[in-house]
Amino acid sequence: MTTHRTLILGAGAAGTAAARALAEHHDLDVTLVGRGSEEPYSRMLIKGVAVGSSAPGVTRLPLPSVRFVSDTAVSIDADVRMLGLRSGLTETYDSLIIATGSAPRQLASSVAGAAEARTTGTLTTLHSLRDALHIRRILERGPRNVLLYGGGIIAAETASLLADAGHGVTLIARSSFPGESVFGARLARSIAELHRDRVDTLFGATLAAVSHDERTVTAHLDDGSSLTGDLLIVALGTVPLSPAPWNGGILVDDRQRTTVDGVWAAGGATVHDDARGMWRIDHWEDSTAQGTHAAQHLLHVLDRGHDPGPYLPRSAFLAMIHGHVVSGVGLTAPGTTRIEPGEEFVQVHEHADGTPVGASGLDAVLSVHRWRERLHGVSTV
Ligand SMILES: Cc1cc2nc3c(=O)[nH]c(=O)nc-3n(C[C@H](O)[C@H](O)[C@H](O)COP(=O)(O)OP(=O)(O)OC[C@H]3O[C@@H](n4cnc5c(N)ncnc54)[C@H](O)[C@@H]3O)c2cc1C
Repeated sequence: MTTHRTLILGAGAAGTAAARALAEHHDLDVTLVGRGSEEPYSRMLIKGVAVGSSAPGVTRLPLPSVRFVSDTAVSIDADVRMLGLRSGLTETYDSLIIATGSAPRQLASSVAGAAEARTTGTLTTLHSLRDALHIRRILERGPRNVLLYGGGIIAAETASLLADAGHGVTLIARSSFPGESVFGARLARSIAELHRDRVDTLFGATLAAVSHDERTVTAHLDDGSSLTGDLLIVALGTVPLSPAPWNGGILVDDRQRTTVDGVWAAGGATVHDDARGMWRIDHWEDSTAQGTHAAQHLLHVLDRGHDPGPYLPRSAFLAMIHGHVVSGVGLTAPGTTRIEPGEEFVQVHEHADGTPVGASGLDAVLSVHRWRERLHGVSTV
């Protein structure tokens, strides 16, 4: 009998979780493929590297004891079940779990000057360890003036960390209440207030063009005004990074199966479409849970475990913003929200039929976490 060969593509949250779940099955041949140009690291921890509060080494991700191949995948041939690698080598598989994560959403091509500013390094995203090391080098020159463009969690947390480290920060966001589409209206309003107390804010402004010289960058806004700083960080959220033949996210079912036989996917690269509608979560713990789920279902198909059942998002996330804790569980994407009565600020995110699918709040970690077991109309206790 030949040994079943499983490839896991992507050595981040979801990929290492899947590998961990399979590692103890010594009768399976499991290989984790990580990008050739980097040591596997935790993307979640790169913020601290960027602002200089953590050493780059703390981001290193421990690898499960499976075969590891450090080589970027450049093609997937699902017909013959083969992965092509940048080195020219190939890896064949019986089963494949894709966990390639996400890419930062870039500025629209209509924003003149952005590409040039990017080449000089005065404009950057904060998505990779490389980005973080670049930002760190600029901030090491002493207190800098940083322009931050975006309204989501990464923009908010980065603004907070930069202010704590003594840098000047101007947070520019298109919405009057940044992050409304991420946090929900009420929470976004509270977070906007926190920003106004600690950093310069310019809300309701759109970046129209960028210009730069060797050391500074200028953001030109749609109202004709402009702002100059030492660095412009663009933090507009993420888009799924899915290898061809998938584009714009890998659609998975409730067992993390793709539409291609023998292929599962997990984490930021995936999109679910189920009773909750179309949804995607790009948080560390949820990606880990999806990776584990994909591996468990694969084991079930191979008669080595129980069916894990449908994947129901219950994972938690947490963000420190100007000394306050924004926390969430489950699916906190916009939709109907209702505020829980009580002293703490907790909002429950509901499906159209009233089923709670997520909860989020400000300085209410325990109350938010209590919702974890009550989501999706299926109790876990
Ligand atoms: C600055 C920042 C801060 C964050 N902070 C938090 C936080 O505080 N809390 C939280 O919950 N989440 C946070 N996140 C989000 C979290 O890091 C992601 O949700 C999580 O990493 C997604 O896991 P993943 O496995 O889908 O993708 P990743 O962890 O990104 O892993 C994907 C891996 O696949 C590799 N890969 C991609 N393409 C190929 C290829 N062709 N060949 C080989 N390898 C490939 C990538 O290099 C990467 O190693 C943060 C993200 C960023 C950018």
